[in-house]
Amino acid sequence: MKTLITEEQLRQGIDRMAQEIRRHYDGRPLTIVGVLIGSLVFLADLMRRIDLPLRLELVQARSYRGADTRPGPLALNLDLLSPDVRGRDVLLVDDIFDTGNTLWELIPQLNELGPASIRSAVLLHKENRCEVPIKPDYVAFNIPDEFVVGYGLDYRDMYRNLPFVAVLEASDREAADAETDIENMASKAEQG
Ligand code: 5GP
Ligand code: MG
Repeated sequence: MKTLITEEQLRQGIDRMAQEIRRHYDGRPLTIVGVLIGSLVFLADLMRRIDLPLRLELVQARSYRGADTRPGPLALNLDLLSPDVRGRDVLLVDDIFDTGNTLWELIPQLNELGPASIRSAVLLHKENRCEVPIKPDYVAFNIPDEFVVGYGLDYRDMYRNLPFVAVLEASDREAADAETDIENMASKAEQG
C-alpha cells in the first residue's frame, strides 16, 4: 500500500473545502446529498466542519464491479432513500470524480425532484479522465490516474477503513482477491 494522501493532508484539504462551501452559501441552509458507499467517511468529516444549518440525504450509485478497476455500467438508486430536496440548495458529495459519468447522470435525476440549486463536492479528482462536459464545484485533491483505496474507497469492498488514501499495489490486490475467494469457497461449502 503506497500512501498518496496522509491523514493530516486530508484534514487540511477538507478544512479548506468546508470554508469555501460556507463562504458560498453564506448562512443559508444547505442539504447535502451523499453518494453511497464511497463518500461515507469523507461525508462524515466534511459535514462536521460546515458551519451552516444542514440537512443530510443519501443516494446510492455503483459503477465498479468486483475485481474490475475500470468503470462498469452505472446503477443509481434514488428510490431507496428518496432524497427530500424540493426547493432546497443541494450539495452533492461524492468520493471521486473519475470519468464524471456518475455526477453527469445523477444531477439531472436530482433536478427532477425540484431543488433550488445543485452544486457538487468531491474529495478526489482524477486528472485527464473526464468524459463529460461538467466539473465538480469543489475538489479537495487532484490525483494522477491510479486506482486508489482507503478513506471510504474500496477494492472489492475492502480497504474502506484505511484512515488515509493509498494507491492499490499488486500485493494488496492479491490479498483482497484471496480474501474474497476464501469467502466464496466458505459460502459454497455451507450451501453443500
Ligand atoms: P465516475 O462516474 O466519475 O467515472 O466514477 C466515480 C465513481 O467510480 C466513484 O464514486 C468511485 O466509486 C469509483 N472510482 C473511480 N475511481 C476510483 C478509484 O481510483 N478507486 C476507487 N476505489 N473507486 C473509484
Ligand atoms: Mg461512488
